[in-house]
Amino acid sequence: CGIVGYIGKKSAEPIMIEGLKRLEYRGYDSSGLAVLSEGKIHVRKKAGRVSRLSELLQSEPVKGHVGISHTRWATHGSASDTNAHPHLGGYGEKEVAVVHNGVIENYSTLKKQLENEGIVFKSQTDTEVIAHLIAKNMNGDLAEAVRQTLPLLKGTWGLAVISVQNPNLLVGARLGSPLVLGIGEGEHYLASDSSALIGHTQKVVYLQDHELCLVTADDWNVENDQSSRVDSPIHSFEWTN
Ligand code: GLU
Repeated sequence: CGIVGYIGKKSAEPIMIEGLKRLEYRGYDSSGLAVLSEGKIHVRKKAGRVSRLSELLQSEPVKGHVGISHTRWATHGSASDTNAHPHLGGYGEKEVAVVHNGVIENYSTLKKQLENEGIVFKSQTDTEVIAHLIAKNMNGDLAEAVRQTLPLLKGTWGLAVISVQNPNLLVGARLGSPLVLGIGEGEHYLASDSSALIGHTQKVVYLQDHELCLVTADDWNVENDQSSRVDSPIHSFEWTN
């Protein structure tokens, strides 16, 4: 339902929680986030309101400058702590975390294939197949792993992904579910709606279907099947505090 991602010098957690709260009006049943620090992905998630996630973060804080977060509107699997996003794939240095808006129509076929390969699923969501597929394709290059994974999926997605192997990279992708890149100074954002960026930046790029974006603190690039460097227009969106 809602996505907020951050990469920069600030602490990702409060920025993401604030962004998720700005997206609350869209409706959701659970929320969660993942932050990278000290070579690990730290996940916190909770059914119910974003305020419950905030409470959990007070007792179990996460610190780090790169993160992804989500408010979920369940399509596959009940509204539970376990089914809340982010979902993890892989172990140790191959680990990746994914948040997803949309529906993966061929998830049950993909899930069976992955289970036959010995992968154990933790949730009932369609989204979890994306995390395991990206982890499987992970070979030191998150962007390449996402490129290899997307053609296997049927359905719709707005995606944000982080990984242990590329800790200074946020990858976003869009097909049929909106995703916005927010451009700051030495920091960038990904969001499902520009309203999540209020107070942070007015410079945005609206991703188009079939686009993938690679985001670091200082740089960003949008690509698609035809071009490794799409000339995306930068828009200015208005907000008043
Ligand atoms: N289909 C996914 C799920 O049920 C994502 C739902 C959403 O867009 O929030 O977990």
